[in-house]
Amino acid sequence: MKVYADNAATTKMSPTAISAMVTAMETTYGNPSSLYTIGQEAAEALQAARETVAKCLGCEAREITFTSGGSEADNQAIVSAAMLGQRRGKKHIISTAFEHHAVLHTLDKLKKQGFEVELLDVHETGLITPEQVAAAIRPDTCLVTIMYANNEIGTIEPIAEIGAVCKEKGVLFHTDAVQAAGHLHINVKEQNIDMLSLSGHKFHGPKGVGVLYARRGIMLTNIIEGGAQERGKRAGTENVPGIVAMAAALKEACDNIDANAAKVTALRDRLIDGLSKIPHCALNGDRVRRLPGNVNFCFEGIEGESLLLLLDQKGISASSGSACTSGSLDPSHVLLAIGRVHDVAHGSLRLSLCEENTEEEVDYILQAVPEVVQYLRNMSPVWRDLMEGKRQFIL
Ligand SMILES: *Cc1c(COP(=O)(O)O)cnc(C)c1O
Repeated sequence: MKVYADNAATTKMSPTAISAMVTAMETTYGNPSSLYTIGQEAAEALQAARETVAKCLGCEAREITFTSGGSEADNQAIVSAAMLGQRRGKKHIISTAFEHHAVLHTLDKLKKQGFEVELLDVHETGLITPEQVAAAIRPDTCLVTIMYANNEIGTIEPIAEIGAVCKEKGVLFHTDAVQAAGHLHINVKEQNIDMLSLSGHKFHGPKGVGVLYARRGIMLTNIIEGGAQERGKRAGTENVPGIVAMAAALKEACDNIDANAAKVTALRDRLIDGLSKIPHCALNGDRVRRLPGNVNFCFEGIEGESLLLLLDQKGISASSGSACTSGSLDPSHVLLAIGRVHDVAHGSLRLSLCEENTEEEVDYILQAVPEVVQYLRNMSPVWRDLMEGKRQFIL
């Protein structure tokens, strides 16, 4: 059996998105900046996609900038807010320790330019409170950037409440909604969001295309310089087929959001309940406030990487830490941020489901994971020490 359970890393494109993409490649192949009819047809397809995306987010089409993905949108949002702040002498930025590296590494760069970055502690449940944000805001704070849902442990942050705090204090609020878009309801006005990032390939759209929403009046700083595309804020000939397909995928996901969430949540809970029976394991992240498809466990006495390789042999695609950090020896910064010690954080497994997964697949995973965990523990010197009482169990 082949089971794809790594939908937080990327998703398979939906037939709707593929067909929209192929149609755009065949018919609207012109350059949207060209004035003749073929160019203008491409410009119209682009505008229709912009309106579709805006409708899904509850904003206006002109507040949407298309980017090369979630990473670029995060970079541009944060740099733009920082540049606006700097002009008014405000150089304090609030974020959290468990953001995606697209956020954390951009903040590191700003630190070198003299910005002060304050990373809020994440509770062991993986949640941040609006009170924490309120307490951290200072007169010189120019930006709060906190993700909507975490890509590793799936926790859903109180975005609307955090946005309300920022609005009251007059501080810009950006959210990395890459894991949320298409899976959780978004309305940027009701949720007090000034800037938001999303990425096409996390909701069955194509890779290499994303969105930055910026509330009207927020001046964006260019990351890519060149032509005057995207109102002069993002140069480069637009990826029309990619953008059209992303908009189709987002609309499809939003049209089916409640039905998909109900189905995927049931699969997730079946998986969590089953895996919880493995001795000396722990669920990472809050049990209830989590993405419909996210399951993340630590198993004591084993290495996540070995677990992944053996699961792959059984046809199961999963993840340990995030896709970007696997390959490095450091444990996940997200698991460390919620207080997991190194040894335990190394033994993590993320399974991320979508509406295409089935109960049979979940049952197959529930058979495979306990077998593989036991097999690895039988070979592990750490596990032997634990069993012989030479080491204390943490979980
Ligand atoms: C995947 C992801 C990104 C990066 O998006 P790309 O389109 O791959 O650049 C950023 N933030 C989060 C939370 C993600 O899951």
